[in-house]
Amino acid sequence: SSTDEIYYLTILHTNDNHGRFWHNEKGEYGMAARKTLIDQLRNEAKQKGHAVLLLSGGDINTGIPESDLQFAEPDFKGMSLIGYDAMAIGNHEFDNPLSVLKQQQQWANFPLLSANIIDKQTGKNAFEQYKVFDKQGLKIAVIGLTTTDTAKIGNPQYIGGLEFKEPVAVTQALADKIKQQYQPDITIAVTHMGHYVDANYGINAPGDVTLARSLEKNTLDMIIGGHSQEPVCMASENTNDDNFKPGMACKPDQQNGTWIMQAHEWGKYVGKAEFKLENGQLTLLDYKLLPVNLYIHQEQADGTTKPVLANEYITPNPELKAFLADYQAKGAKQIEGKIGYVDAKLEGDRNKVRYQQTNLARVIITAQMNTVGADFGIISGGGVRDSIAAGEVSYKDILKVHPFKNRIAYMDWQGQDLWDYLEVVTRFPPDSGAYLQYHKLSFERSDNALTKMMINGQKLDKSKTYRMSINSYNASGGDGYPVLVTRKGYVSTDETDAQALKRFFTENSPVKASEFAPQ
Ligand code: ATP
Repeated sequence: SSTDEIYYLTILHTNDNHGRFWHNEKGEYGMAARKTLIDQLRNEAKQKGHAVLLLSGGDINTGIPESDLQFAEPDFKGMSLIGYDAMAIGNHEFDNPLSVLKQQQQWANFPLLSANIIDKQTGKNAFEQYKVFDKQGLKIAVIGLTTTDTAKIGNPQYIGGLEFKEPVAVTQALADKIKQQYQPDITIAVTHMGHYVDANYGINAPGDVTLARSLEKNTLDMIIGGHSQEPVCMASENTNDDNFKPGMACKPDQQNGTWIMQAHEWGKYVGKAEFKLENGQLTLLDYKLLPVNLYIHQEQADGTTKPVLANEYITPNPELKAFLADYQAKGAKQIEGKIGYVDAKLEGDRNKVRYQQTNLARVIITAQMNTVGADFGIISGGGVRDSIAAGEVSYKDILKVHPFKNRIAYMDWQGQDLWDYLEVVTRFPPDSGAYLQYHKLSFERSDNALTKMMINGQKLDKSKTYRMSINSYNASGGDGYPVLVTRKGYVSTDETDAQALKRFFTENSPVKASEFAPQ
């Protein structure tokens, strides 16, 4: 750009798509309506002479069976048709083998960026780090970043060969290098690190606020984020606007001169930021979180509430809708129909299954024990992602419980080694994803040590061999479990956790929930 001219820029953004290429049963969000809105915003911006950039804060993968079963092909192709310019690689992009992520990069006609992921073998960056765009005379650098928590919560089977580096140092060095090489007018980080108000990131890895505060001033003009799945709307400095609802005004965060923006999740909103660049000075003219056919509860005169649209109805783009409808139908076909029955709720709610033994965990473990002929079995509570309601059970219900496509495996233990292993895994506290769910196993601990153990009601015989069922996630070190995959006695099958559970229901329905009640 030349210094004496005034330039305008519109940034459009979404994040944490999580398989939501299709609208929900109420008609909320969905990529076809998103395209209509974005086409309109892009046209308006171009008419006003703005450069336009459309970014995503990542986590395209995992959350809806129709998408998961097709490895998010409709989501990545839908984003391409909407015209995304770039996205950050999120932790859930590692829920599948790296070969799938490679395929997804092929489906996308825009780059999947991350500057802080290193291939341990080569020592080089595993992904494209940044891209410099030329739009309407403006040079805009976009750097991708991924939460270092991916190393902790991601699937060790797939991320074992990758190192997730601290974003601050990576960003400072890279932004300096890009500035030298390209002299961009604007520098943006598109991140999947989370926005934590006033940098209170708690047990999570530091997020966007920490990044903005730690960098030298003027390193980044803005951070377009994801991961925490909140609308970033501030009431005042370092205070969140807890009253934000669809359709209301939203003030993004600003830290150390860097704007921080995030559009909640699932394509519920499109974020729109309009900037003016004059003499190297970037000014935010307007910011909006535009709802995509979201309903709010409106209070009526008689005191009751009624759901009403928060925005004027957005007609889904017909071509994109038709394109995605084929995927939706194909996905739905794979999961339709009843596969079994259960007479009462099987408990998999997050606030139960990470705290106490539940009937659903026992059903799951029984299914996995059956697959490999095990004496007992374990899983980590965090791996149970949903409950199953009383009544007919569909494959879709199963896939909500097990979205990750883990393989069922077993370990043949010598008694003493088993004792040592259980000494570790029975220690994980409640309120963590690692919390142990177990079946046909009982134990006692005192003074922080294992004192007693029974397998299937019998005292552990240290001279005997026992077979334990486990999934490939925990066996490869997921949730901090000791790594088994490299040990003698470990065998993995090709059956996934969802297939095992599905088979259990087809073979054992009607399932009586009380038979699986934890004692
Ligand atoms: P995000 O916050 O990015 O959406 P998330 O929702 O998966 O990530 P949590 O809700 O904290 O984060 O869940 C993490 C837990 O999920 C882990 O502790 C683990 O128990 C479970 N988990 C994650 N990935 C897998 C996997 N591939 N297989 C089985 N369990 C998994």
